[in-house]
Amino acid sequence: MKLKRKDKVVVLVGRDKGKTGSVARVLPASGRVVVDGVNVMKRHTKPSKAHPGGGVLELVRPLPAGKVALVCPSCKQPTRVGYKISGDNKERICRKCQGVIK
Ligand SMILES: [Zn+2]
Repeated sequence: MKLKRKDKVVVLVGRDKGKTGSVARVLPASGRVVVDGVNVMKRHTKPSKAHPGGGVLELVRPLPAGKVALVCPSCKQPTRVGYKISGDNKERICRKCQGVIK
């Protein structure tokens, strides 16, 4: 998985195409990520203990990691992620500017 929590990403396809947000959660088992403000679904719920009034809740749903691209913190462009091994460390690098990501 090339994305981590708090990465800035841009959505490449679908209804939320072009939107940016930061990664709230990574779900490696399903290859999905949860991005703040992206893929928001409205759910109409009956009153329950957690939501006594019921009503319309906004849920942020996970989306496949391949549908987003990382926005490089140094060159601000959407990019693919490469890796660089330096000693015992594996660092993520931007394929466009070669800068190290975090
Ligand atoms: Zn870059």
